[in-house]
Amino acid sequence: LTGRLGDVLGRLTKRGALTEADVTEALREVRVALLEADVALPVVKSFVKRVKTKAIGTEVLKSVNPAQMVIKVVHDQLVEMLGSEQQELNLVAVPPVVYMMVGLQGSGKTTSTAKIAKWLTEKQGKKVLMASLDVRRPAAQEQLKILGEQTGIATLPIIQGQMPVDIAKRAVQSAKLQGVDIVMLDTAGRLHVDESLMAEMDAVHKEAHPTETLLVVDSLTGQDAVNVAEQFKSRVDVTGIVLTRIDGDGRGGAALSMREVTGCPIKLLGTGEKLDALEAFHPDRIANRILGMGDIVSLVEKAAETIEKDEAEKLALKMQKGNFDLDDLASQLRQMRKMGGMNSLVGMLPGIGKMKKQLDSANLDDRLLIRQEAMIQSMTPKERRNPQIIAASRKKRIAAGSGMSVQDVNRLLKQHKQMADMMKKVKKLGKKGIARGGMQG
Ligand code: GDP
Ligand code: MG
Repeated sequence: LTGRLGDVLGRLTKRGALTEADVTEALREVRVALLEADVALPVVKSFVKRVKTKAIGTEVLKSVNPAQMVIKVVHDQLVEMLGSEQQELNLVAVPPVVYMMVGLQGSGKTTSTAKIAKWLTEKQGKKVLMASLDVRRPAAQEQLKILGEQTGIATLPIIQGQMPVDIAKRAVQSAKLQGVDIVMLDTAGRLHVDESLMAEMDAVHKEAHPTETLLVVDSLTGQDAVNVAEQFKSRVDVTGIVLTRIDGDGRGGAALSMREVTGCPIKLLGTGEKLDALEAFHPDRIANRILGMGDIVSLVEKAAETIEKDEAEKLALKMQKGNFDLDDLASQLRQMRKMGGMNSLVGMLPGIGKMKKQLDSANLDDRLLIRQEAMIQSMTPKERRNPQIIAASRKKRIAAGSGMSVQDVNRLLKQHKQMADMMKKVKKLGKKGIARGGMQG
């Protein structure tokens, strides 16, 4: 191979798969990083174990060493664990929407109530009403009233001697009358989780039917915070967690423990005492902070991008020439598997939307991709370049070599032929100038 195509293929060479030894060694570093970030020990253990299974066998990208590759797998796993679910506040329920804030005393409920209300008002254009249900701590209701005055957000007038459930009822009624979008109920905490607190939460919850029940926890209290969260979760239907004092929690390890143990989505982070010190939860950022290896992650991401680009270029070149052999199909299948489906690679190529639909309908799932790769692997290089030469006896051999049937081999060859024909069509379209602006060699 010479010239440009040779270059492209050269750059694509991989270093093989991660071995158990590579993984074990790199995970030693990861373990230390997680513990330094204050992730709880049991969480570290189970996490490392899970990542290990996942990492072994992963292909190492060119220009990256095995350790760096492991870090990337770890990072991706962290992101997945931190945020596979909906993390945004529900803003679409029918108003008045009720948000109920729960948590221990001093965790930051009242402050977070005002922060969220401010964000809803200023950034989302919502009409918000805040109500303090804290009849236990002296001046707690006044605290919220003052925050309301500071931010220009309405608070429910205080009526001395009223019980939390009655305040909640009055807040919702008042919200209906005034056309309020969101009612924020700031409840009272306790020093510890106890029955009286839980009974109160239950009663308020039944009265107000909150759309969001946000558990506010102090990230600085570490393992305690996790225990508290578990206890709350067992009694109240917690829809999300607000993790406060992240500004004091160096590396954000509490987020991982919290998420892993409770399974609740972390929705917001409190990052300071000021009322605009509130951040949306970005799993990616926290994962970087916890690992403290952001440079390595972006290095590997860049390497992956280069390879994707190279593969796309290579395929584009092939298409331009109108030839697409079984090696190309195999490399395509690998890419699809790695990138989770058809959408990425093929979607990156210009002028190909229609073809993609046809390919999608070919029903390509992961197992199928693996089996198809296996069949191609059982062919000789010559056969892969030139599938027409595959005779019936060879089909049998190929089927046996890959544990498939002759029909499967025929199906694969047919699929390849269809794709190759499509490539030719795309080439013609390209010549007519329909795909203009794309695919210059
Ligand atoms: P509550 O008892 O749960 O209502 O807690 P408060 O909202 O009254 O907060 C207790 C203290 O924590 C106050 O001094 C707040 O200013 C402080 N606080 C709340 N959230 C944060 C945060 O994200 N970062 C920092 N540094 N302080 C916070
Ligand atoms: Mg309070």
